Amino acid sequence: MADSRRAVDVAELVEQARAGGPASARAVARLISLVENSAPVLREVAAALAPHGGRAQVVGLTGSPGVGKSTTTSALVSALRADGKRVGVLAVDPSSPFSGGALLGDRVRMQDHATDDGVFIRSMASRGQLGGLSAAVPQALRVLDAAGCDVVLVETVGVGQAEVEIASMADTTVLVLAPGLGDGIQAAKAGIIEIADVFVVNKADRDGADQVARDLRYMQSLGGRHSEAGAWRPPIVKTSAAKGVSADSGIDKLAAAIEKHRDWMTRHDVLAQRRRDRAATEIESIALGLVRRRLESVHGSAALGVLADRVVAGQADPYTAADELVATL
Ligand code: GDP
Repeated sequence: MADSRRAVDVAELVEQARAGGPASARAVARLISLVENSAPVLREVAAALAPHGGRAQVVGLTGSPGVGKSTTTSALVSALRADGKRVGVLAVDPSSPFSGGALLGDRVRMQDHATDDGVFIRSMASRGQLGGLSAAVPQALRVLDAAGCDVVLVETVGVGQAEVEIASMADTTVLVLAPGLGDGIQAAKAGIIEIADVFVVNKADRDGADQVARDLRYMQSLGGRHSEAGAWRPPIVKTSAAKGVSADSGIDKLAAAIEKHRDWMTRHDVLAQRRRDRAATEIESIALGLVRRRLESVHGSAALGVLADRVVAGQADPYTAADELVATL
């Protein structure tokens, strides 16, 4: 009984999320909470979202703390809204245990968009489990995609492996750098330079921005995948995000570079390929989780006990025993 009531709710929520207006934002928030908490209805939500996806361009913004990601994200939202686009913002913080509105509520600039029906803002945290976050982010992206977002900006707070992992979920990865933070070298260490599609040198109003841009250009000149004919050469866009979308802030140029990257990906079948690869990774990871859970339920069972006895007695080697165990799943 409870299950059938929930089934109706999910379909209704998805409908509301897609309808637009103030109720839409609430439905989106609710759906994201459901997928984030791995609620029992997670599968139902995933199934209801499936036919409505594939439209949004997922743009990941990454870079060291303090470079101006949040300010850039907010200015980009303004630029995209001025262009009539529906926008989702997902702030992902692998180091924080807090999810929901709190994180972004503290980020003053996002409040510029808090009352705009065409903008969905949500933060997600790891709650101490990076694996859980990596699984929940693609689902949250599907919610925002189904809700009709043209662009979803994923802002990653924090650096390191988590950053690279989240960036791999984007269609377009924007690496934000700023003068005075030694970022070029830091970013190269994290391997993020290799996966960036657009470079932003923010705080262009400050001394040293030109030097950061020159360093980047030099790194690009060293070759790599971008030097092949027809390859995408990541543009370097200088911005002063704190100036918003003013004529000299460079934010419009950033929005244009992001759109250009989407066009290039579509023309070269890169977008479809990236999405196929991501779907494959996701299926594999869910399947591994299922297999692990089934193995755990076998653990301690008679079947496993019998196999263990045979290995101890030298009647079977552990590989053969493992083959037999997997064959029973
Ligand atoms: P995040 O940690 O990367 O998200 O960085 P924030 O967006 O919170 O910005 C960090 C600091 O840099 C804040 O004090 C911003 O006001 C400032 N900031 C952001 N963009 C610019 C800019 O274009 N120029 C200057 N001078 N400061 C900026």
